[in-house]
Amino acid sequence: MQVYISVDMEGIAGIATLDQIVRGGQGYPRAQALMTAETNAAIAGAFDGGADSVLVNDSHGTMDNLIHADLDPRARILFGSPKLQCMAEGLTSDHDVALFIGYHAPAGGPGVLAHTFSSLFTDVRLDGKSVSESDVNTLYAATAGVPVGLVTGDDVICGLVNASNPGIETVVVKQAHGWSATNSLPPSLARDAVRDAAKRVVQKADTFKPAELRDDWVLEIDHPTITAAEFAESVPGSRRTSARTIEHRLDSVEDIIGLITVNYQLASAGISGIVTIASRR
Ligand SMILES: [Zn+2]
Repeated sequence: MQVYISVDMEGIAGIATLDQIVRGGQGYPRAQALMTAETNAAIAGAFDGGADSVLVNDSHGTMDNLIHADLDPRARILFGSPKLQCMAEGLTSDHDVALFIGYHAPAGGPGVLAHTFSSLFTDVRLDGKSVSESDVNTLYAATAGVPVGLVTGDDVICGLVNASNPGIETVVVKQAHGWSATNSLPPSLARDAVRDAAKRVVQKADTFKPAELRDDWVLEIDHPTITAAEFAESVPGSRRTSARTIEHRLDSVEDIIGLITVNYQLASAGISGIVTIASRR
């Protein structure tokens, strides 16, 4: 029984403010400790449930947030960036089930620190429907034949997962009270709930089914600025469908994640790009 865990930061109990999730922020060291402890709860639950191995992918921001010295030594840790498959790096057909810990709601709606991959994208859609990071990574897991068994985070992301993938278990560790405010479970109780759920999910890992895949997809990304969309338009295969929207027709989830990563960088370049271009003249 091999378990894969992708851990984000925004959906961890006790985390709700920007200075907690950005390296250098005053609250960041406290958030690292909370993220590490909740990850340990998921690792412990996985082993309680019969896991033989656990791979943890640090999936937030710089992807180097977990405090390795404090992590359960039974797990392997994948960290650093860039990683080709981003939040799903290292997830292979060797895994029996995937757990998404500390996940958050997508851009454009409610939810604590809601965004979709880049804090600069105003929306990401697949076949016209807004998607969350959980949705995209669930599809990636399916390409490896791996089901997702558990998503944890605030009430908004858990509600969305319940609606779109009712087979996946969820643990609500906090209620959203705005983009940067929450009513959180005490972290110790959240860890108990995450550990229990991880154990339950791993025990019945063979009852979960991978998400359904299609042969082709339309990926749309709404960029923060026109300059960002202009950069993104020059990526081969892209189509500019409105001032800030880029569209790609793709036949693989790997390519969806790859293009999200490229557009992530171009969105940042598009914010600073006006200055860069002007200074070259
Ligand atoms: Zn994150």
